[in-house]
Amino acid sequence: MLYRIIAETYLKIEGTTKRLEMTDYLVELLRNTPKDVIDKVVYLTQGKLYPDYVGIELGLAEKLAIKAISQASGIGEKKIVGMMQKHGDIGVVAEEALKNKRQMSLFSFESSQELTVEKVYENFEKIARAEGAGSQDRKIKLLVELLNSATPLEARYLLRTVVGKLRLGIADMTILDALAIAFGGSKDLRDEVERAYNIHPDLGYIAKMLAEKGPDGIREVRIELGIPIRAMLAERLPSLEEILEKMGGRAAFEYKYDGMRIQAHVGKEKTMLYSRRLENITSQFPDVIEAIGEAFRGEEGIFDGEAVPVDVNTGEMLPFQMVSHRRGRKYGIEKIMEEIPVVLFLFDVLYLNGEDMTSRPYPERRAALEKWIQQTDRVKFAHRIVSGDIEEIKKFFNRAIEDGCEGLVAKNIGEESIYRAGAREFLWIKYKRDYRAEMADTIDLVVVGAFAGKGRRKGTYGALLMAAYNPEKDRFETVCKLGSGFTDEQLANLPRMFEELRIEKKHPRVWSEIEADYWFVPKVVLEVIGAEITLSPTHTCARDIIEKGSGLAIRFPRFTGRWRDDKAPEEATTVKELVEMYRNQVKKVEK
Ligand code: ATP
Repeated sequence: MLYRIIAETYLKIEGTTKRLEMTDYLVELLRNTPKDVIDKVVYLTQGKLYPDYVGIELGLAEKLAIKAISQASGIGEKKIVGMMQKHGDIGVVAEEALKNKRQMSLFSFESSQELTVEKVYENFEKIARAEGAGSQDRKIKLLVELLNSATPLEARYLLRTVVGKLRLGIADMTILDALAIAFGGSKDLRDEVERAYNIHPDLGYIAKMLAEKGPDGIREVRIELGIPIRAMLAERLPSLEEILEKMGGRAAFEYKYDGMRIQAHVGKEKTMLYSRRLENITSQFPDVIEAIGEAFRGEEGIFDGEAVPVDVNTGEMLPFQMVSHRRGRKYGIEKIMEEIPVVLFLFDVLYLNGEDMTSRPYPERRAALEKWIQQTDRVKFAHRIVSGDIEEIKKFFNRAIEDGCEGLVAKNIGEESIYRAGAREFLWIKYKRDYRAEMADTIDLVVVGAFAGKGRRKGTYGALLMAAYNPEKDRFETVCKLGSGFTDEQLANLPRMFEELRIEKKHPRVWSEIEADYWFVPKVVLEVIGAEITLSPTHTCARDIIEKGSGLAIRFPRFTGRWRDDKAPEEATTVKELVEMYRNQVKKVEK
């Protein structure tokens, strides 16, 4: 197929902003495209060579593109750079340069070989894959070869495509429209085309199935291991009451983890991971791959979940930014993995041992998940309750916040609760808390217990159990586990420091519902700063004062480095002060 046909279509598309007109031009192009190159034509029109998840991208450096234009046109590089400054568009620069060449040249352009789509694709692919020594020269040569048989108009689009800036403004949805019309005759086929796209988001492949087999081809599209499925998304409603009503009075409520969504494709030979935007993130999480491989007891599966960084010692979830450091990073992952391990919280299974699970209702999928995955330290099921009791749900929500989550995701448990790939509907409804407060002041807390260290902290304490003082009851009420902010030396010294204060059982003046590994006489006071104060069903500080059944906790606590030797434990921050701080914090946010 001649590249000219594509270039002429692009020119027409560029001339309109109307989606309908764009669709018409695309339909015409698709109808004029032979079956065997239709996938390539679709990718090129998206400015790509493959669907994004394959991870092979075109993006030739502008510097090299300029060299190629110079060589193909015989115009000096300096001059091309000047033209680039003037136009700001490498495509237009190439077009101008070739026009110039044609005017100067005696040889008839028409007699030279015409550029084909196959040739363009082949050279682009070589450019995208070239690496190592001499690759820059090879890339330039490959582009020059194309330019030598290109018309000025073709040069415009070749250059824009090869530097990764084609930008025709065609959304995937417009291509789906065009495919439905080109091969179904009307938009009637649109829903089916979209269904196929949602479970197999590769427009080139879908175009090919349609071109080769017609509407039946689209019905043959299946979920495949290694091809990401478009993520199901959640709607939102402002209150838990409304959510419960919308769900018909009863639903599953899952923790809404604040991490990174991961779709894991676990196979016999290899495992692939995809992000919410379907990027291939396999290389960023070797630990997740190993963990899910160990946890899965079947042959093949596709799982949906959220990866969350966890403090190895306190077992508490950490802010999401700690995971995001891994993104785009190829080196040093080993080290990060050790320091900030992630736990994968699974909430769905989309494919299992050869079977598409997406059309099964949620309760069945969850049961299958629980059957085929064995929970480990690093792979767990999303924590959840199935309930219709608003009080119970509210408590669960508070617990989710205290545990470091953003809120809850309610999930429909009816017959209709299929996995709707790519859709945002009321089968899932998210409920996030509507405030985010900051703790401005430091507080002074008393060490009442400790937990044995793990990983790098083996042999010392991993975290300390901290409490506030309640003068009315003369007791110490727990508010957090403290594991960050210590230097390695301080950590190593902790057991020795607390040796004298060690006691067999919880001290009678300590009120704790958490079982510590070691208990101390309340004596040592540390200065602590946290992100905020939250309601807590596990800590005893101010239990029942703000809300029945809840206490207060410090979220993301950190030792400031100050040992408050000058303070007696009874001079530590009081429960009452924390209640005040909590109320002020909430008030501040409501303002
Ligand atoms: P969205 O993903 O809905 O477009 P967003 O990117 O802003 O919006 P949120 O509004 O925070 O994300 O909520 C949806 C996200 O919550 C999901 O994409 C998923 O990553 C995450 N999530 C965490 N826990 C769960 C869970 N138990 N079930 C479903 N999603 C969950």
